[in-house]
Amino acid sequence: MKTIGIIGGMSWESSVEYYRLLNRYAKARLGGHHNARNLLLTVDFAEVEAHQRAGDWAALGTQMAAAARQLERGGADLVILATNTMHKVYESIEQAVAVPFLHIADPTGSALRAAGIERVGLLGTRYTMEQAFYTGRLAERYALETLTPNEADRADVHRIIFDELCHGVVHEESRRVYQRVIAELAARGAQAVILGCTEITLLIKPEHAVLPVFDTAALHAQAAVDWAIEADRQGAAAAD
Ligand code: GLU
Repeated sequence: MKTIGIIGGMSWESSVEYYRLLNRYAKARLGGHHNARNLLLTVDFAEVEAHQRAGDWAALGTQMAAAARQLERGGADLVILATNTMHKVYESIEQAVAVPFLHIADPTGSALRAAGIERVGLLGTRYTMEQAFYTGRLAERYALETLTPNEADRADVHRIIFDELCHGVVHEESRRVYQRVIAELAARGAQAVILGCTEITLLIKPEHAVLPVFDTAALHAQAAVDWAIEADRQGAAAAD
C-alpha cells in the first residue's frame, strides 16, 4: 500500500476522525491486521483560524504548501487535506508537490452523482458555504446544484463548528439546530445533504438527518485508501 500524507483538519478533532476512518477502511478492505500506511501532519489551528478571519488566504496558501512539502519529504505518495475550508487554497498545494493531491470535493461529487442526486444541501463553515471555490467545483465538475442555509442559519452552523465541534464539544441542542436546518434544506428541494466540514461528522450521523448524508470526511478517507491500494497494485503489476 502507498503512503497517504494527511494535512490534519485543521482542528485535531477532525484529524483524529480521519486517522480512524483511514485505518478502519483499510482494515475493511484488506482484512487482518492491515492499517492505512500514513503520515499525519498537524498544523497549529490557532494560527490558521486567525488568518481565515483576517481573510489572509495568501498566508494560508504558503503554509499549506509548506505542510505538503513536509509530507512529501517524509515519503508521502499522495497528499490529502482534511478540511473542506482550506481547499480554497488547494492550488498552492498542487503546485508545491510532485505527488498527487486528492481534492475533498471530488469523492463527494462522484458519490452524489452515482446516487442520482442533482440538488444537494451544503453545511460547512461560512467560507465553504458562501465562497465559490467549493460550490463552483461541484457545479462545474459534477453538475450539482447546491443549496445553502439562510443567513441566520449559516451563522449558527458556522458558530457551532468553531465554538463547539473544533473543541470536541457535542451538544444535543446544536444537533437539533443542524437537524432543523437540514429539514429546511429538504423542504427547499435538496435531495441529500453534504457534511461539508470535517468536524460535522462528530455531531450528525445518518440516523440524525431526514436526508441522505454525504460525509466528506468519510468519502475522502475512503477514496485515499482506494487510491493507495490501487496505485500500489498498479506499480507491482508494472514491475512484473
Ligand atoms: N474542518 C473544517 C472544514 O472541513 C473547518 C475547520 C478549518 O477551518 O479547517 O471546513
